[in-house]
Amino acid sequence: MREAEFDRRGQDGLAIFRDYSDKIREVVPGKYTVPSQRGPGAYFVDPSAGTCSCPDQQETRRRCKHAWAVLFLRGDVEVPAEATGAPKRPTRKRNFRAMYAASAEEKSRAQLLLRGLCDGVQQPPYKGNGRPALSLGDLIYALVVTIFCGDSIRRAGSDIDACHALGLLEDVPSAGSLFRAMERPDLTPLLQVMIAESAAPLVAFETEQQYAADSTGFSTDVCHSYCDYRHGGKMRPTRTFVKAHVIVGTCTHVVTWAEPTTGNVSDMTKLPKLVQEMVARYPVRELSADAGYCSKANAELIASVGAVPYICFKENTTGQSGPKAWMKMWHDFSANTEEYLQHYHRRSNVETVFGMVKAKFGERLRARTQTAMFNEMLLKFLSHNLSCLVRAIHELGIAPKFDRIFSLTQPATAGAPP
Ligand SMILES: [Zn+2]
Repeated sequence: MREAEFDRRGQDGLAIFRDYSDKIREVVPGKYTVPSQRGPGAYFVDPSAGTCSCPDQQETRRRCKHAWAVLFLRGDVEVPAEATGAPKRPTRKRNFRAMYAASAEEKSRAQLLLRGLCDGVQQPPYKGNGRPALSLGDLIYALVVTIFCGDSIRRAGSDIDACHALGLLEDVPSAGSLFRAMERPDLTPLLQVMIAESAAPLVAFETEQQYAADSTGFSTDVCHSYCDYRHGGKMRPTRTFVKAHVIVGTCTHVVTWAEPTTGNVSDMTKLPKLVQEMVARYPVRELSADAGYCSKANAELIASVGAVPYICFKENTTGQSGPKAWMKMWHDFSANTEEYLQHYHRRSNVETVFGMVKAKFGERLRARTQTAMFNEMLLKFLSHNLSCLVRAIHELGIAPKFDRIFSLTQPATAGAPP
């Protein structure tokens, strides 16, 4: 075994071999299952074909840690003599004191920040004779409070009342007006701009300007089945789900743009809009994305805005022909795979963000209509940005202030329409 071959994956494989060698099973002669280190389940390794069913091997086509573990188990590779004791993975230094302080104060700090953001929402001119409409800023404020406390609109009543008592809300919107607000299609672009704007204080800390794009689905309680109504209910109804396509900062985990769509919209087609909205507001030096975004057009698009694309190639990709940006990306990948992958793997931060949002604000949507689902999803991402800001107040000592004005008719869209 050459020295250079024994990389980080080799180290990790050695750790699996040490800790789980009794759980690595030869299920078919010459083929093994290796337990996952992160959770339940196992991966299927075929050492003779050099394959494994884990995402790492599927993406990079390199020998993964599971394959290494099998090689150590079979004695195909000698256990390195110098590797005594468990190999240590470099860990990120965390400021736990600041983290705990941020969690303790998260709700109250976020409520204050949110007030600053909602103060920028311009009240549309009042048309009509009846009682004047509730302030739009207050409606959005109350909606974010309901998402933040993780309850339904009705149950969040006490949290909304508490904000009113603190003077953060002028009027307390009724549950009915909040339900109606959720159904407003004009709220969707406004919330998108508010997400982008709430990211501004953290974008300053994205000094490397490395961003990542991806999408995630949110499930709903609404069941739809075309066959169900067309053919008298023979097939099982499928649950409707909607998707959020986002760009995040890979250092601060802040969401800089979010685009809601129905569940069947492909990632590939949404990248131009994401990139356009992003670069209209913030500078981008690198953008990483998974194989779902792998196309010559996307590579060219990212390069055309002055950023370097780091997209995962598909298995059948060749770099034989294509635009300049595509050829360069292929060359960088082939010439220095390890370095390319280092940049590409910044992408995992977008998965982290999805995990954070779903763990904190739930992965299921309560809304019943598409517009309300879109708005609810965007409110979750706005709440996530607020919680990132609170953490940054403690960890980085920032004092965010918002002074932009948003209006329904002309949201502060910086770019041209797609
Ligand atoms: Zn593997």
